[in-house]
Amino acid sequence: MSKEIYLDHAATTATDPKVLEAMLPYFCENYGNPSSIYKLGRNANAAIDAARKTVANVLQAKHGEIIFTSGGTESVNLALFGFARRNTKRSSRPKGHIITTVIEHSCVLEACKTLEYEGFDVTYLPVDENGIVNRKNVVEAVRDDTILVSIMYANNEIGTIQPIAEIGKALKQINEGRAKNGQQKIAFHSDACQAAGYLNLKVNDLGVDLLTINGSKIYGPKGVGILYIRDGIMLEPLLRGGGQEKGLRGGTENVAGIVGIAKALELVTLNRAVETKRLSALQKYFFDKLSRIKDITINGSLENRLPNNVNISIAKIEGESAVLYLDAKGIYCSSASACSASSHKPSHVIMALGRSAQDAQGTLRFTMGRGTLKKDIDFTVSELKIIIDKLRSISAV
Ligand SMILES: *Cc1c(COP(=O)(O)O)cnc(C)c1O
Repeated sequence: MSKEIYLDHAATTATDPKVLEAMLPYFCENYGNPSSIYKLGRNANAAIDAARKTVANVLQAKHGEIIFTSGGTESVNLALFGFARRNTKRSSRPKGHIITTVIEHSCVLEACKTLEYEGFDVTYLPVDENGIVNRKNVVEAVRDDTILVSIMYANNEIGTIQPIAEIGKALKQINEGRAKNGQQKIAFHSDACQAAGYLNLKVNDLGVDLLTINGSKIYGPKGVGILYIRDGIMLEPLLRGGGQEKGLRGGTENVAGIVGIAKALELVTLNRAVETKRLSALQKYFFDKLSRIKDITINGSLENRLPNNVNISIAKIEGESAVLYLDAKGIYCSSASACSASSHKPSHVIMALGRSAQDAQGTLRFTMGRGTLKKDIDFTVSELKIIIDKLRSISAV
């Protein structure tokens, strides 16, 4: 068989060898507990400190505004539960109002569902047919009791980029009015797991109070995440223990993972401009080739889109069958997000674009990355054509 073509970088990425190299000393040599006061512990603690500074630099945040978690899911859960539970109007029902969107990652949607059970009201904003949230809709959804807005930076299925800086600006204006009345500020969280490799992460440009990033999507290790928490934003911890991470996350730190995610973020930031340009050209090439196949619809905006994402619906095709046929040719892609692929439900993101359940079933996502070459696209599209013909002839019988 020919080499494997990995086109599922939105599911996860390979760890960059430079990242692994930076992590290795923290397993067998510098294995100390960062809380220990002797040298071995101090070394580990210094490594976490350095990692925090690296991340703070990229985000142009303060060192003390960065905490490390076990991944994107935990960062999101800490941001949403931590903020909602800490800033609750305990005596009132609802306990507070939260605004999010219908196209969020399941970790946001599931957390919001649980917060509804706990007595919070949640508004799930729609997106337009291009998969973009409208700033005006966010502003109009704000109520007197709104405490938190959570909107993803870039979508994991269709790669659409949300106008985070615009929304941040609008919320800032609302908050200035609130400050005059002595009212509580609305906090703004964004899930930037998919965006972190490609987009501006400067928290003051974005106007966010909370920002989630994970290692798994930026050529870093899996199982480690970052949460940016703006000074003055108070959270209730999810994990109580030894007071690590400013008391927000008890438990001995994942030192190697923390060193790894910081290195990974540093490297993707250095390569961002060049890689974005390279992938944008490949993406255009990919879409042009696909548009010549009959009955293919492109999902999501072409302009406001991550440079590595190609998402299509193919009429009268089962996405999962196509994934398995491509797998047999050594091509890896997905029919929905990796997280919802096991649930066999049509993608909530494709449905949110106003498509039929049938369209959603025939969806394929290709997400390119550092190793993707033009010839990989050529091979993928030619195999896809063969597979589509095959699957259509089967279903026509
Ligand atoms: C992958 C992903 C997550 C979850 O991150 P984990 O590190 O797997 O917990 C959350 N949000 C988005 C947008 C993602 O792509």
